[in-house]
Amino acid sequence: MNLILLGMPGAGKGTQAEIIQKDFDIANISTGAMMREVSRSEGELAEKVQTYLSSGTLVPNDIIVEMLVQRIGQDDCRKGFLLDGFPRNLDQGKALDSANVSIDLVLYLSISEDEIINRMSGRRVHLSSGRSYHVIHNPPQKEGFDDITGEALIQREDDAPEVIKKRLDVYFSETEPLLDFYRNKNLKFIEIDASKSLDEVTESIRQSISN
Ligand code: AMP
Repeated sequence: MNLILLGMPGAGKGTQAEIIQKDFDIANISTGAMMREVSRSEGELAEKVQTYLSSGTLVPNDIIVEMLVQRIGQDDCRKGFLLDGFPRNLDQGKALDSANVSIDLVLYLSISEDEIINRMSGRRVHLSSGRSYHVIHNPPQKEGFDDITGEALIQREDDAPEVIKKRLDVYFSETEPLLDFYRNKNLKFIEIDASKSLDEVTESIRQSISN
């Protein structure tokens, strides 16, 4: 089972991806996490990627597509994989086709813009694992600290209000056209109401994958 999670930044893709990965034993590939890792390394590429991350714009396709296709070729993806944050524009969708990557299911986590702004401003993450919390909707056991490691949580710099706005603009102009691209393809496309509770959304996703 190879699947894609689509939806606005902050719709809950990363949180749901972690749960699904465990339930269905498939690889969880987050290009955002990949880019944050690159940006923490040394050198020219790291600096370049960092400028895109902090401004909320997309990393150019020539940097990200090859990295992603290589990642899909790794052993742990043979049982199946889940893409969170890729593709992000039509060219990336077409690049998956050109690389003969077959997709079985696209899950679109649908939600309003107002709800997104509320969610993203309350999001806190554990940097090294990518685990994500929300101060109100999904709080850690101890405020400000990761449940598993006890390490401090941070607010992503791209969750700052002015960057959130930019990321939403980028979503509407570049990513949203992918909805029709996949609706018109010969695969399962399911829309899920992502404004519901975390558990309800997980349950809808489980059913979509199992049916
Ligand atoms: P995310 O964690 O998915 O919200 O991604 C955070 C940031 O990483 C984005 O705002 C982009 O700068 C970059 N990024 C992640 N995935 C992609 C992608 N598929 N194409 C281009 N840039 C990406």
